[in-house]
Amino acid sequence: MRKKIVAGNWKMNMNLKEGLGFAASLVKYFNEKPSPGAEVIICTPFIHLAALPELLKNTELKSGAQNCASEASGAFTGEVSAAMIRSTGTQYVIIGHSERRTYYHENNALLNRKTRLALDNDLKVIFCCGEVKEEREAAIHHEVVKRQLEEGLFSLPAGELKNVVIAYEPVWAIGTGLTATPDQAQEMHSYIRSLTEEKYGKDIAAAMTILYGGSCKPSNAAEIFSKPDVDGGLIGGASLKLEDFAAIVEAV
Ligand code: PEP
Repeated sequence: MRKKIVAGNWKMNMNLKEGLGFAASLVKYFNEKPSPGAEVIICTPFIHLAALPELLKNTELKSGAQNCASEASGAFTGEVSAAMIRSTGTQYVIIGHSERRTYYHENNALLNRKTRLALDNDLKVIFCCGEVKEEREAAIHHEVVKRQLEEGLFSLPAGELKNVVIAYEPVWAIGTGLTATPDQAQEMHSYIRSLTEEKYGKDIAAAMTILYGGSCKPSNAAEIFSKPDVDGGLIGGASLKLEDFAAIVEAV
C-alpha cells in the first residue's frame, strides 16, 4: 500500500516563538490521539527547523523545509543549503512550489538541481507541479505538468524515486478558495501516475505518493482524498489552524 501523507506548508508565517508554540500544540494534540495512519509533516520557515526535530522526537510528526539552495555551498548570500537543512535533523524539503516558480522565477532546470542536492543530502523531496488558470483554460495542463516532471524530476535514477513525493497543485487553486473538483484531481493524479509508469515502470508508479494541494480544507478534504490516486494533501492556509489541520489529517 502507498504511504498516505498530509504535509502542512506554513509559508512565511509565524515567528520563532509562535511557530514552536504551534508545533508544541500539534505534538500535544497528536500524542493524545491514536496514530493517524498517515505521515504528518510540517514544512516551516528555516528559523524553526533547528528546534523542531527535538520537539517532534517521540512523535509521529516530521519536519520539512519549504525550499533549499540550488548550489551546495559557498558565496551565495542569503541561501540555505540542503546539507544545512539536513544537519538540523529535518527530513523533508518542498521543491518547486508555485510561489517559488512565480515570484523567484525558478525553472525546471534549477528545480532539478535542487532536487538532486536534496536527495544527495538525504532529504526526502516533495516535488510540486501544476498549471496556471490560463493553461487549464487552453487545455494544455497535461503538457505543462508533463514538462515540469520530465525536466524537473524524471532524470533521477529509479532507485531514488522512493524518496520523492509528487504534489499536484493547480496554481489557480492555491490560496484562492477555488479547489479542483475531486474528479479533476483524480484525473490529473492518474495522468501523473501513468507518466511515472511510462518512465519507471508499474511498481514504482504504484508506490508513488501523489498529494493534492490547493485550498484543501476540512469541508472538501474527505471527498478529494477518497479518490484512488490521491494519497493525501499539501495544505497551505488550513495548516495554520490546529482544528483545520487535524480535521484534514483525520480525513486522510
Ligand atoms: C500550498 O501552499 O501548497 C497550498 C496548497 O496552499 P492553500 O492550501 O492555502 O491553497
